[in-house]
Amino acid sequence: MNIVLFGPPGAGKGTQAKLICEKYFLNHLSTGDLLRKESSKETSLGMQIKKTINDGKLVSNETTIELIKQFINENKNNKKGFLFDGFPRNKKQAELLDHLMESINEKILCVILLNVNEDVLKERIMNRSATEGRSDDNLETLSKRLHTYSSETEPLIEYYSSQNLVRKVHGTGEISDINQGISSYIEASLNA
Ligand code: UDP
Ligand code: MG
Repeated sequence: MNIVLFGPPGAGKGTQAKLICEKYFLNHLSTGDLLRKESSKETSLGMQIKKTINDGKLVSNETTIELIKQFINENKNNKKGFLFDGFPRNKKQAELLDHLMESINEKILCVILLNVNEDVLKERIMNRSATEGRSDDNLETLSKRLHTYSSETEPLIEYYSSQNLVRKVHGTGEISDINQGISSYIEASLNA
C-alpha cells in the first residue's frame, strides 16, 4: 500500500511518517530528506538545491522525480509499500507519481492531509530551528515556504479530492492521538 502524507511546512509530516512507517511496515520516502542529502554534496547540483531550499522554492521537477525514481527502484521489493512524505508538491509531480505507480502496478491508497493553522506552524518551525539547525527554518524562508505551499501545493487537494482520496486529520494535540486519527483512515481505506 502507498500513502501520501500532505500538509504545510511544520504540520508534523516527518514525525507522523516515522510512526506510520513502523506501524504498517512502509518505506519512508521524504523528498525533503533526499534533497537535503543531495544539497550537502559539493557539486553544482548540490549547491543549486541548497539555494532553492533556502529560498523556500521547489526544486525542479526533473531533479526531484529522478531522486524519487531511484528511491522507488532501490526499495520496491522492500516492505509493503511507500509513504510519500512531502511529495508531490505540484500538479506535474502528482501526475508523474500517478504514472510511476501505474508502471509498477501500484496505486495511492489515500492522501492524509494534516491540518494546522499558520500561527502554530510558525511556532513549531521556530522551535525546531533551535534544535535541528535547518538553514530554511527561519521566519523569512518560512514565509516563502508557506507561500509556495499555498500557491503550488495546496491546489493538489482538489486534484486528489476529485479521486476521492483525501482524508483530513487535525494536526494539533497529542502525537499519539494524531497518529490514531491517521491510522483509522488508513484502515478504513484498506477495508473499503
Ligand atoms: N523540497 C522540494 N521538493 C520536495 C520536497 C522538498 O523542492 O518534494 C524542498 C523545498 O524547498 C522545501 C524544502 O525542500 O521547502 C524542505 O522540504 P521538507 O519537506 O523537508 O520540509 P517541510 O516543508 O515539510 O517542512
Ligand atoms: Mg519534513
